[in-house]
Amino acid sequence: MQDLVQLAPPLSNGQVAPESGPLVDTLDRIHDNLRISVTDRCNIRCFYCMPEQGGEFTPVSKILTFGEIMRFLSVAISLGIRKVRLTGGEPLLRPALPDLITQISETPGLTDVALTTNAVLLARMAKPLYAAGLRRLNIHLDTLDRERFRQITRRDDLARVLTGIEAALDAGFRSIKLNAVAIRGVTEADVVPLARFARDRNIEIRYIEFMPLDAQHLWSRERVLLADEMIETLSAEFGPLKAVPDPDPRAPATEYDYADGRGRVGFIASVSRPFCLNCNRLRLTADGKLRYCLFAREETDLRALLASEASETELERAIRSTVWKKWAGHQINSPSFAAPNRPMYSIGG
Ligand code: SAM
Ligand code: SF4
Repeated sequence: MQDLVQLAPPLSNGQVAPESGPLVDTLDRIHDNLRISVTDRCNIRCFYCMPEQGGEFTPVSKILTFGEIMRFLSVAISLGIRKVRLTGGEPLLRPALPDLITQISETPGLTDVALTTNAVLLARMAKPLYAAGLRRLNIHLDTLDRERFRQITRRDDLARVLTGIEAALDAGFRSIKLNAVAIRGVTEADVVPLARFARDRNIEIRYIEFMPLDAQHLWSRERVLLADEMIETLSAEFGPLKAVPDPDPRAPATEYDYADGRGRVGFIASVSRPFCLNCNRLRLTADGKLRYCLFAREETDLRALLASEASETELERAIRSTVWKKWAGHQINSPSFAAPNRPMYSIGG
């Protein structure tokens, strides 16, 4: 585990990226995990992500087509990418998403395909997504309280989200996780009810510490509800949480079993327990920019390469050199931290 030290800035050691072998950076971190954002639009407006009004969205003509995404993915798989997550913005706003899932599911080489959604449109999409081959869903739910849902998302859609979750269970999804963003002064009262809701449905919940990726720059360290505090709250309610034995060191969530053995809970503690030194992720934004970190201040524009006759070798070089530039980690805990110029919805969470 890393402590709250400042992580080192980008590494420039004068060497060029290797031309073969796994996708490594200068710290020998092997990258096999890819997040693909399929849109930067969203149908709700969580205050820790989107602005209340307006916001700049990429024109549809500049969003990667499914063909371009598949072209990128086939090169990425040849370089060792094995896990893919589709995200956004809200990915279900692309109505043909099941077609993309079908193509991805039929592509050899991947061991894991997952989708992150706010579930507002899941009631009608769950069955087509399952039929397309999707088996893993992360559903975003911060509260079971209608008023607080409205306060957080500036929309009155809690009932649709809950219906979407039941529809996913009915459609056959058995690997569902809930994502709950934890914000001091807002969601303390939701920690226990959400845990109970998830346990009752055999779903794992992950509490995510609020990160400085919101469009309105409302983040401050004081507003982060810390993993340790939530562990204490849940232990007081359900009995002492037990750290899972032999955790995967590359997984972002620290996981715990409930004292009675009924279920598991995770914490994505990017602020209080940064996991950068085990990071294996790359991100492709909806407008075709490749990023080595959520917080990166640079990115590689691949859209023109993907849309043109660029060779696989050119794409491969662009991907390898982006990974090679990866820094040691974000510097949220440093006084010199500067938020990236894109908020979460525009990067893809
Ligand atoms: N719209 C989908 C959703 O909400 O699940 C997918 C995209 S959203 C950007 C992905 C995840 O990012 C969400 O599940 C939410 O929990 C998380 N998220 C958004 N803004 C965040 C922030 N400022 N800090 C921590 N997590 C955040
Ligand atoms: Fe939309 Fe997801 Fe951002 Fe909320 S977190 S505004 S649902 S993209």
